[in-house]
Amino acid sequence: MLIVDKELCVGCGICEDSCAFGAIEVVDGIAVVSEACTLCGACVDNCEVEALRLEGVEKNVQVDLDNWNGIWVYCEYRSGSLSSVSLELLGIGRKLADARGVKLAAVLIGADTGDTADNLIAHGADIVYRADDPGLAYFTDETYGAVLTDLIKQHQPEVVLAGATAIGRSLIPGVANTLGAGLTADCTQLDIRADDGALLQTRPAFGGNIMATIVCPSSRPQMSTVRPNVMKELEYDAGRTGEIVDVALEPAQLDSKVRVLESVQAENDDVNIQESDILVGGGRGLDSEKGFELIRQLASSLNGSVSASRAVVDAGWIGYPHQVGQTGKTVAPKLYIACGISGAIQHVAGMQSSETIVAINRDENAPIFDVADFGIVGDLFEILPKLISKIEGYQKS
Ligand SMILES: Cc1cc2nc3c(=O)[nH]c(=O)nc-3n(C[C@H](O)[C@H](O)[C@H](O)COP(=O)(O)OP(=O)(O)OC[C@H]3O[C@@H](n4cnc5c(N)ncnc54)[C@H](O)[C@@H]3O)c2cc1C
Repeated sequence: MLIVDKELCVGCGICEDSCAFGAIEVVDGIAVVSEACTLCGACVDNCEVEALRLEGVEKNVQVDLDNWNGIWVYCEYRSGSLSSVSLELLGIGRKLADARGVKLAAVLIGADTGDTADNLIAHGADIVYRADDPGLAYFTDETYGAVLTDLIKQHQPEVVLAGATAIGRSLIPGVANTLGAGLTADCTQLDIRADDGALLQTRPAFGGNIMATIVCPSSRPQMSTVRPNVMKELEYDAGRTGEIVDVALEPAQLDSKVRVLESVQAENDDVNIQESDILVGGGRGLDSEKGFELIRQLASSLNGSVSASRAVVDAGWIGYPHQVGQTGKTVAPKLYIACGISGAIQHVAGMQSSETIVAINRDENAPIFDVADFGIVGDLFEILPKLISKIEGYQKS
């Protein structure tokens, strides 16, 4: 617990300012600690008169950074298949590992994983730690967390990456907490600092108005979750070789208070825009819900799907599953056609990894043209019908 020495405390308030959790307040000239205290020790370090101390807590245990080595990717395997973000993370993981001159390892947890480990090696992994057991057929935080935590403790990787998926967001914070490691969620960019191996973890902050780069300079491992469709996977290379390590599991690791009786796939009529190769996106320039008829026609003529900006989702012109951007989905189709979308930073954050971007906007200064490969300046109500008839005519011929 955090102890305040009332004899030494001068009520200066520095501790109040240094507490990120608002857990300490000077009352009648003495620091008073509330239940919000996380025992992080920031106030102790900042107290100039040494009136604060932590008892029964190992504070700021100095980690020997040199003992931590290698880049790890948690590869999500469920219902017999590997999530695509796992391969994307191996792509960026390979770059980080090469920059550090260390090995890239994949952690595969599940049941009946078949030749998935070979697939991970073909996509860039040097080592695969495979925990394959019927007791791991269904994901639970307890079992998967125990396996991953124990592996990390045993091998001490300097970096651990996972997808910012429903499973990644559930699993990784618990693992980081058990390890006492820092975690940056929802990263959109990763790099590594050459001189000290600090992972530069970039993510939107303050409602997407700035991009913040976060480092964990004094603790290991450095852990990040990364949004799907942001990083690029490597080409499958059947010639790559690597090592597969079958993890010996202890019964305690498979012990869980949760018993999964059945796993049911959610029914959803809406197309998953993250899986479409071609997206036609509509924005406020469509004027009304009716404007989406043109977008649907163009999408259908290209065998693509319809996406949207938040402005039109908020206006109720189309459903949320179609929203692209910071508070929507991140997409990376082969072709993204943005129609009447201004290109606000929050929208661009969700589609800038598209292979080819075409923008149609009547404002030649619209920011969407900064990320577009091809731009058409003009009225979409004139351009889209012509485009649709051209494409349909071309298909008939
Ligand atoms: C915390 C936060 C999170 C957000 N998350 C998201 C998000 O996930 N996704 C998202 O999209 N936004 C998001 N936003 C909102 C974002 O800031 C913009 O407000 C929004 O993207 C604007 O949508 P828009 O481009 O459709 O509309 P506008 O900005 O109004 O742009 C309409 C464009 O259409 C053009 N236009 C008008 N008429 C025509 C015409 N006849 N022909 C051709 N062009 C025409 C105009 O020139 C204009 O460029 C978020 C904002 C905040 C603060």
